[in-house]
Amino acid sequence: MLASTDGWTTCALGHRHWGRAGAAGLLLHRDGESGPEVLLQHRAQWSHHGGTWGTPGGALHEGEPAHVGALREVREELGLAPEDLVLGERSVDDHGGWSYTTVLARPARPIDAADLRLDGESDGAAWLPVASLDEVDLHPGLAASLSRLRPLLADARG
Ligand SMILES: [Zn+2]
Repeated sequence: MLASTDGWTTCALGHRHWGRAGAAGLLLHRDGESGPEVLLQHRAQWSHHGGTWGTPGGALHEGEPAHVGALREVREELGLAPEDLVLGERSVDDHGGWSYTTVLARPARPIDAADLRLDGESDGAAWLPVASLDEVDLHPGLAASLSRLRPLLADARG
């Protein structure tokens, strides 16, 4: 059964987005050997923008706060529980009539991408250095947000 906010919507910028109440994702980051790294999932070929790397996330339910939706999605998609994560800043990409909230988080324990329990929406997950994200095929939403997210990732170090 579909929740009432499921469905396609068109934002003020003319994109089609899934989820009428907006969407949220979790950007998990850690300090790597050569700067910050982020945990991204490789989206299954059948999915929207399949074959690209993106943040785990998805459509929000009616009245659901972004961080709650992001935690729900990351549990479904990667098998991570709230106690595995320490939430940080939020960054909202508002398209007009639809927005995507990126919730930054750090691992509360060492998280090995190979140990994650992936659901069918992704066919892989990996820690990728932020400095080399330009070299992979990023989900267009993440690519568009990256200039805003990079400074937050840099600030979060320490
Ligand atoms: Zn849009």
